[in-house]
Amino acid sequence: MVGAVAACLLSQSNSLKKIAPLKIALIENSVATPFNSDQFDPRVAAITEKSRQILSDCGVWSDIEGLRASPYLAMNVWDAESTGRIRFDCHDIHLPNLGHIVESRVIVEALLNKIASLDNIDFICPATIHQYRREQENITVEMDDGTCISGSLLIGADGGNSRVRDHFNFDCKQWDYQHEAIVATIKTENPNEQTAWQRFMPTGPLALLPLNNQGDLHHCSIVWSQRPSIAEDLMALDDSLFCDELTRASEYCLGKVTSVSRRYKFPLRQNHAVDYVLPRVALVGDAAHTIHPLAGQGVNLGFADVAALADEVIRARGRDIDIGDESILKRYQRRRKPENLATMGVMEGFKNLFSADQLPLRLLRSLGMSQLDKMTPLKNEIIKRAMGL
Ligand SMILES: Cc1cc2nc3c(=O)[nH]c(=O)nc-3n(C[C@H](O)[C@H](O)[C@H](O)COP(=O)(O)OP(=O)(O)OC[C@H]3O[C@@H](n4cnc5c(N)ncnc54)[C@H](O)[C@@H]3O)c2cc1C
Repeated sequence: MVGAVAACLLSQSNSLKKIAPLKIALIENSVATPFNSDQFDPRVAAITEKSRQILSDCGVWSDIEGLRASPYLAMNVWDAESTGRIRFDCHDIHLPNLGHIVESRVIVEALLNKIASLDNIDFICPATIHQYRREQENITVEMDDGTCISGSLLIGADGGNSRVRDHFNFDCKQWDYQHEAIVATIKTENPNEQTAWQRFMPTGPLALLPLNNQGDLHHCSIVWSQRPSIAEDLMALDDSLFCDELTRASEYCLGKVTSVSRRYKFPLRQNHAVDYVLPRVALVGDAAHTIHPLAGQGVNLGFADVAALADEVIRARGRDIDIGDESILKRYQRRRKPENLATMGVMEGFKNLFSADQLPLRLLRSLGMSQLDKMTPLKNEIIKRAMGL
């Protein structure tokens, strides 16, 4: 997703007068699964308003809406161990929604359709990069079939297990959350009220993200983060017992969970590259930082990365400066690292606060959430920040 957005934004450098457009190669090793209107992709992202604007700048938001995007109007967050509860509502901030739940497959399909229509992007797929050569004037990648491509700048948008990051020995700070996330699509007895539901339990958060299938509001995508041993036990349950467990874990907020799709399990690790750039190389998205999905910020941070990077690269191009120059790339790093670090810190704080079961912390959680719920201006400020506004 992040690499495709980078390609779309960079392709717009040809809108600058008298400047030859950038030539971009987007190299991807797996062929995307096509969108299927009868089935939900288990991987979804909560797309913030800021990301929606970036996708609009790429010229794909209306296509995404045309395929399937589920706006959510409110968010209910509560603590399993106390009476702490907080509700965010789009009407409080006079906006039509708080964001959209969008299947990853939908985002990728819309971006790839757009890319197919752009002359200055060469989409090379399936192809795996396995060699990199960085020189003074350019950088060359070699693909598995022996083909080589050279350019001024290599953007590593190759995800949490980034080979670009490893090959160039970017230093990273990483730690294991001791959590695994179970992801699936469920059907519930009651409609989802176009509300995102999140219950914090000492063993990890459970999120129910509302999906809208042409007006049918009985589906949600779930992200259930759990300690690995519990996650394994939950994965081993048959569908009916899993639905019962989920009904209990969600405190019947949408009535009974009546069915569940195939379940997937992901290990959760936090990883942050100390630097995002080297001369001719820039890391973006999960290649630069992976965070806990509890606030659904991962891909949103990645989209914000490439918006900043494209801005700097296009500006450099307009001034006839080498786009792989480290000083240009450092400007991108300076713009993005503080926000990414701050978001990661907040996620870590949330995770620790809600996994603590000492009485004083439980009381603090309960009191803090209930007080915050009543402090409308502060609450509105928090939600606007989470929306990237
Ligand atoms: C359970 C879970 C739930 C999440 N929920 C949310 C959410 O609600 N909101 C949100 O914003 N984020 C969410 N995230 C995070 C989000 O999924 C990631 O931040 C996002 O996928 C990162 O996108 P990316 O494009 O940087 O990396 P990826 O999606 O990992 O894409 C990397 C791409 O690079 C390709 N690739 C890798 N190596 C090579 C190579 N050598 N050669 C060629 N191609 C290569 C891969 O095939 C892949 O397509 C969630 C994550 C998890 C695990």
